[in-house]
Amino acid sequence: MRASPIAPTVDFSAEGVQHGFLRLPYSRDDSAWGSVMIPVTVIKNGEGPTALLTGGNHGDEYEGPIALFDLARSLRAEEVTGRIIIVPAMNYPAFLAGTRTSPIDRGNMNRSFPGAPDGTVTQKIADYFQRTLLPLADVVLDFHSGGKTLDFLPFCAAHILPDKAQEAKAFDLVSAFGAPWSMKMLEIDAVGMYDTAAEEMGKVFITTELGGGGTATAKSAGIAKRGVANVLKAAGILRGAVGASGTTWLDMPDGSCFSFAEDGGLIEPLFDLGDPVAAGAVVARIYPVGRTGAAPLEVTAKMDGILVARHFPGLVKPGDCVSVLAVVVA
Ligand code: CA
Repeated sequence: MRASPIAPTVDFSAEGVQHGFLRLPYSRDDSAWGSVMIPVTVIKNGEGPTALLTGGNHGDEYEGPIALFDLARSLRAEEVTGRIIIVPAMNYPAFLAGTRTSPIDRGNMNRSFPGAPDGTVTQKIADYFQRTLLPLADVVLDFHSGGKTLDFLPFCAAHILPDKAQEAKAFDLVSAFGAPWSMKMLEIDAVGMYDTAAEEMGKVFITTELGGGGTATAKSAGIAKRGVANVLKAAGILRGAVGASGTTWLDMPDGSCFSFAEDGGLIEPLFDLGDPVAAGAVVARIYPVGRTGAAPLEVTAKMDGILVARHFPGLVKPGDCVSVLAVVVA
């Protein structure tokens, strides 16, 4: 396969702190020989494990970028044993536009793996992570939140994996992250995900869903900042004890945790995040908005659980995810 067109302005093997860019040539109307300049920080001090930390995989999710821009400016090399690679906004064009997908090619970074060195801008970034950055990593933390269209109970998560030793290491890091909630996560659509690419490479991979609605809160940003420090301590890269968490473990047992809208309209939530919901309960009503007098469509829960995610905007479209339930693991 051809080489990546991305040229880093940092040396991943050099000691110390480097702030630079992953420079991706992008020729366009307003810049004939222009580039996408994706910010990157590398902090290395001697031998030890490598952590690869990413936010902005989806461009409208903010806890990860907040925690990682903060970490990148504040960490000193002498605090680190090993190496930390920080990319606060992985899909940088999407992050700058405040959109989930890239305004350049509509690329959804988390459906673009393994990527392609001769593909679109999003595919080229994915390929660089697939073939250059992921192979350098031992531990991978990719921050997500709900973005503009979903809102989540704040949780850190890992996946059930065929390799049980790899799975156990990932859940140890989820526990260390110490979000209020910790999830054994089921994906709705795992093909093309960064998660899957990292896991298939044998990496210890964890992710988050820390809020949503296209913004962050003081609480959710704090969870992200404490969580990444805890993960780096648990991995032996930062000194210090992992802070006590008091997390509650959740499981998404099967596809019955998801409910989708079968028609569009005005959505009335009947439960809030964290509320217990019984199977058969109406989680939301969808009012037809073309005229008055019509009965709302009722969206029902297919299992007992607590509400961990919900549709965020006040209007819903057919096929939108309305709610996600999870069960508390005793
Ligand atoms: Ca996301």
